[in-house]
Amino acid sequence: MTHEAPGAASLPEQGSLALAPELSVIAPVLNEAGNVAALVARLVPVLSRCVRSFEIVFIDDGSTDTTLEVLRTLNHSDPRVRCVSFSRNFGKEIAIAAGLDHARGAAVVIIDADLQHQPEAIETFVNYWRQGYKNVYGQRIDRASDTPMRRWLTQNFYGMFSAFGETPLPEGAGDFRLLDRQAVDALRSMGERARFSKGLYAWIGYKSIGVPIQIDDRVHGFSKFSYRKLTRFALDGLMSFSTLPLMVWTYVGIATAVLALFAAFYFILETMTRGVDVPGFASLIVSVMFFSGVQLISLGVLGEYIGRIFAEVKRRPLYLVAENIGDARAKEQATDKLDV
Ligand code: UDP
Ligand code: MG
Repeated sequence: MTHEAPGAASLPEQGSLALAPELSVIAPVLNEAGNVAALVARLVPVLSRCVRSFEIVFIDDGSTDTTLEVLRTLNHSDPRVRCVSFSRNFGKEIAIAAGLDHARGAAVVIIDADLQHQPEAIETFVNYWRQGYKNVYGQRIDRASDTPMRRWLTQNFYGMFSAFGETPLPEGAGDFRLLDRQAVDALRSMGERARFSKGLYAWIGYKSIGVPIQIDDRVHGFSKFSYRKLTRFALDGLMSFSTLPLMVWTYVGIATAVLALFAAFYFILETMTRGVDVPGFASLIVSVMFFSGVQLISLGVLGEYIGRIFAEVKRRPLYLVAENIGDARAKEQATDKLDV
């Protein structure tokens, strides 16, 4: 494949193809006023070097600081910088989905706005893309920039995912990556609400390759992911890519029933040989409590899945766009704000 806008003919809702740049960079932002200008300043020279034309699309995920104003100014001075602003915070995963919807490029790069991902790596990504790779992902060499607690949790999560998940995840792969238009369209065709992007990137397949990358420390501000958010994210990931937690209860049930049969057999024998023996209150209480616990856990797992099914069947739009800065099509979209 050459770099002559692969898949350009299939660009969706593009209006005039002349509008479509060769590369779109999308960056989800939540309160990153201190970082966005620096990111643009580092992106522009890299992109000017390696592609013919580009756009940088920020997805403002309900920022409450001056991020939006800074982005407006950036758009004024360089119309290649655009911004889609959400009506509230929808979360990074959904912001990425919106970025993929609004990107027009023949390839799309997803990058964090806090300069933890080095924009210079994009040059390598683009080189692989030109060699025909459709999914070029940055692979973390180490996790030194994470806290030890987060590293430990991450390790456990990936251990569980590879044991239970139905889609193998490449090691150390994150959101920083380049996707060919074909891969972008594949991701856009997946309408699910619980978006565990890392799983989705792996699920779509296509010719993929990992590029080792160094994750820098955050330049300004702090991580937006609390442990609570990360737990939710981990559960979403496991549950959208595995039905094992749902199925395992059949086996737990069978095992306990078999155990109960053995116990019944033992008690019958004991009664026959030694006569009726009333004591046993403690063991009774313990087993009642234990099995009530097991039942509640299994109900809880059912609840987790049902909650997700409920969220999916409501078919609410994935996100709502409040403002579209620098988009020539913004007028059309202002009348169609349910920008699914
Ligand atoms: N982010 C977002 N919405 C959120 C949380 C984060 O758009 O609800 C953005 C954030 O502004 C940053 C990127 O996602 O550009 C990565 O977030 P962060 O640096 O907080 O995560 P970490 O690097 O700790 O994984
Ligand atoms: Mg970060």
